[in-house]
Amino acid sequence: MQSIVQPLLEWYDHAKRTLPWRGVSDPYSVWVSEIMLQQTRVAAVVSYYTRWMQALPTVEALAAVDEKTLYKLWEGLGYYSRARNLQKAAVIVVRDYAGVLPRSVEELRRLPGIGDYTAGAIASIAYGIPVPAVDGNVLRVLSRLQSDYTDILEPSAKTRAFDTLSPIIPPDRAADFTQAMFELGALVCLPKSPRCDECPLGDRCNAYRDGLTTELPVRVVKTKRKRKRTACRHLRFAVGGDRLGRVGRCGRLHRVGRVRFEHTAFAQSKARIYAYHLEYGGLLGGVRR
Ligand code: SF4
Repeated sequence: MQSIVQPLLEWYDHAKRTLPWRGVSDPYSVWVSEIMLQQTRVAAVVSYYTRWMQALPTVEALAAVDEKTLYKLWEGLGYYSRARNLQKAAVIVVRDYAGVLPRSVEELRRLPGIGDYTAGAIASIAYGIPVPAVDGNVLRVLSRLQSDYTDILEPSAKTRAFDTLSPIIPPDRAADFTQAMFELGALVCLPKSPRCDECPLGDRCNAYRDGLTTELPVRVVKTKRKRKRTACRHLRFAVGGDRLGRVGRCGRLHRVGRVRFEHTAFAQSKARIYAYHLEYGGLLGGVRR
């Protein structure tokens, strides 16, 4: 894999897009752009990012902003928890780090809304630390380069990607390497129709050589299972409360309808539940007549 570094960086030097957060090593700017880019296309983020940085140019400004302004700046991007976490983390950064984001991945990971990927992106892009930032683009590129059939939705795929990239990131160009991998996934190694003829890594890519680009990466989407455990926990609580559902002859709870939990901690998130013997009865063996 070491052989991908030079051609990738040479390609990035001339093919990279001009973006407002590119070429910026201010950790706050990198952080805001990376959070905005989660689940959102680059083109859509540009205007939001520009507006945000004009209104809140520093971590201190973000920490002090009122909720209404915060939401207004985020309006349209969706997933408002991202904005809330940005502010929560900003308060911590001001309080504990004198307004400067920490350098270490471990400390970054402890801040609200910052996971492995974002921590790696901030550490490498803002601080030049040679640590991988593994997102979906990176997983796709690596899966194809190596003809790796690991399901990229499995945590083990991220671990493998991390282990593959860690030893090859050039210490003097960690920021460029991280962004070059993103850029290759965004512009060339596209999910459906990769542009292999234009790819700087075409002569090193197993999937291209073997005609496997449409098969890779492997993504096995699992169907969601019903949250029986959670429902069961709620039901047990209902049984202990004042307003019970009907208890069947079998001794199990038959039905709980519109049970209110104002007096419980659940009230904040679950005002009412509906549960049926057929679905959950088997989990309520402890209910007495
Ligand atoms: S050659 Fe094609 S499949 Fe391989 S990394 Fe490049 S764009 Fe992706």
